[in-house]
Amino acid sequence: MRTNLLVANWKMYKTPAQAAEFVREFLPKISNKSDEIVICPPAISIPATVTALEGSRLGAGAQNLHWEKEGAFTGEISAPMIVAAGCSHVIIGHSERRQYFGETDTTVNKKLRAALDVGLTPIVCVGELLEEREAGITDDVLRRQCSIAFREISGEQARKLTIAYEPVWAIGTGRTATPQIAAEAHATIRAEVAKALGDELAQKLCMLYGGSVKPENIVELMAEEEINGALVGGASLDPKSFAAIVNYRSAKA
Ligand code: PEP
Repeated sequence: MRTNLLVANWKMYKTPAQAAEFVREFLPKISNKSDEIVICPPAISIPATVTALEGSRLGAGAQNLHWEKEGAFTGEISAPMIVAAGCSHVIIGHSERRQYFGETDTTVNKKLRAALDVGLTPIVCVGELLEEREAGITDDVLRRQCSIAFREISGEQARKLTIAYEPVWAIGTGRTATPQIAAEAHATIRAEVAKALGDELAQKLCMLYGGSVKPENIVELMAEEEINGALVGGASLDPKSFAAIVNYRSAKA
């Protein structure tokens, strides 16, 4: 059985004080006792978030990392630093990193290996642009992103791998992929993982959907067998709305 995972990606929102305030408001609202819940604040707010989460069963994650352990890389943070700050997870290859900061499939691969080396759970984001979907090449794009990302990774190391399918046209746009679109893409990704890392790992792989997830669509998305959780941007910034998402199991249909 795969454990479901619900992740908040706060992007460049929330100071340390705002992060701590969110956690104080959010924790008492959670009724979900079975799924994993992780909050990924901006790096500067990780310590405040980790401190506020102490004593809860929630985890914290970073939104990015550098593949070197240390060095002259101004402005970057490394995998061992993320672990030392108390994080269990790290997002890799988010489409905003690819679009605005020149991240490529090759850098995603380097970052993924660095994260796995220190025991972090990497959340690798893949997904097609609107033009790519309209050109009918979604599967090719997903296969390329996955095959490069998983180079030189052993099946043993990859047990922690988590993938988020995030169609770029659905991120922050209010447009959500239908559960069927998401499930089809997940099946393509799972097949690619099976090729690169073996069938057993592919069957156990935790795969998230991301792209305008909100309280109104989480139940329908989570009803899909292929969807094992969600990566949530905008709707995770408000404790009430993120609580409504993580509490999807008790939502009325
Ligand atoms: C994201 O940040 O990964 C994301 C999916 O954003 P949003 O939920 O706002 O579309």
